[in-house]
Amino acid sequence: MDYRGLLEAAEIAARATTGQGQVADYIPALAAADPEAFGMAVATVDGELFGVGDWESPFSIQSVSKLFSLLLALSHGGDGLWRGVGREPSGNPFNSLVQLETEHGIPRNPFINAGALVVTDRLQSLTGDAAGAVREFLRREAGNPLLGTDPVVAASEAEHGHRNAALAHFIASHGNLENPVEDVLDHYYAHCAIAASCRDLVLAGSVLARYGVRADGSRMMSRSEAKRVNAVLVTCGTYDAAGEFAFRVGLPGKSGVGGGILAILPGRAAVCAWGPRLDQAGNSVAAVAALDAMTTLSGFSIF
Ligand code: GLU
Repeated sequence: MDYRGLLEAAEIAARATTGQGQVADYIPALAAADPEAFGMAVATVDGELFGVGDWESPFSIQSVSKLFSLLLALSHGGDGLWRGVGREPSGNPFNSLVQLETEHGIPRNPFINAGALVVTDRLQSLTGDAAGAVREFLRREAGNPLLGTDPVVAASEAEHGHRNAALAHFIASHGNLENPVEDVLDHYYAHCAIAASCRDLVLAGSVLARYGVRADGSRMMSRSEAKRVNAVLVTCGTYDAAGEFAFRVGLPGKSGVGGGILAILPGRAAVCAWGPRLDQAGNSVAAVAALDAMTTLSGFSIF
């Protein structure tokens, strides 16, 4: 497969969206991103690595980190996690409070903010340092010891985090948090505020392309668990537009409001595209266009 040619074609499709969408600013520090930045990378299961544009520039990974906290919580704690968080699309915005009330503090899935807070809480119980566990995992898989939390973004999230604090307190009121709300929020902000590049994310995301096997050849989770995570990515990984993402791209993927989308071609490769301008649902306009072009031209899809 000519990955380099595919990336070049994907970049052309992404650049054609210039000017569309808005950079996230509800976390003020995110508004500093260059709206016209674009990068994309592919890491194959055979160890090949390709990139175009700003593929080595770090950006705020935001909700892409929720994929890694989930993988780590499952690998440390197993299936018990699913007692506290569901696996259904929410049909609501990622930071919505409404379902928690009627559903007794059990969030719909691990990729909306409410669900990610529960996952961070369990990872905190299992490791004593949830954000550190996510950082260490990314550093090791990406071979990048410099990767870390951007303290300015983390502080900005905390300062404007009323909604996440409300979600966490509500979940705690239903007895679905094991740790103090403040600790859970601190670790959640710290892993969302990790700065990493497309290069870093494809190397780390390759664990799912290899069905649960890490870069060093050790098994992180069973093949069946990896399949399950890919399934939840398809149905819940791209906000309230997972149907549209499946329609256009046809791969499991996780997006973040920093403009990154990490997608998995199971058995073949991990792909990450990044562009800070977001559509109405919160997905990067350029990244969706690039991934759409790549799967359309290559015929790669899980469907
Ligand atoms: N840290 C962000 C928040 O909690 C993550 C949002 C996202 O990327 O979806 O609002």
